[in-house]
Amino acid sequence: MSSVKNRPPLLSLFGGAPVDPLRSKTMSRIRGKNTRPEMLLRSAVWRKGGRYRCHAKEIPGTPDLANTAKRVAVFVDGCFWHGCPMHFRPPKTRQRFWTEKIKRNRETRKRTIDRLGPRWRVFQFYECEILSDSQVCADLVVRALKQGG
Ligand SMILES: [Zn+2]
Repeated sequence: MSSVKNRPPLLSLFGGAPVDPLRSKTMSRIRGKNTRPEMLLRSAVWRKGGRYRCHAKEIPGTPDLANTAKRVAVFVDGCFWHGCPMHFRPPKTRQRFWTEKIKRNRETRKRTIDRLGPRWRVFQFYECEILSDSQVCADLVVRALKQGG
């Protein structure tokens, strides 16, 4: 999305501090669900008339938003956990570990999208894209929801 590419990089989502293992353990438990960007997107989509379920476990990858009848799935991915090209910086310690971990996360996401297959329209947003312009992201999703079925 061009509007996203033109914006200056955000400060590190972790305030620039390296992630220590204890903290990262906590973060890995809490990551992903009901984050601020996800809530922003959800409310924008809802206001525009898009209807969806959240974290539907029977759909591959448990998308953050999904509409099975319309075959639309949306993943809101953290800039750190999914290696956003603009914002991912490996922490200063255990760089190899983190780089490998993020790489695996990206591969898992790609496999999930493959599993959903061509019949689904799948959106993958980085958090920063939604924070930068939640309306544009929501418009894309709502358009797909209105076309699908
Ligand atoms: Zn980002």
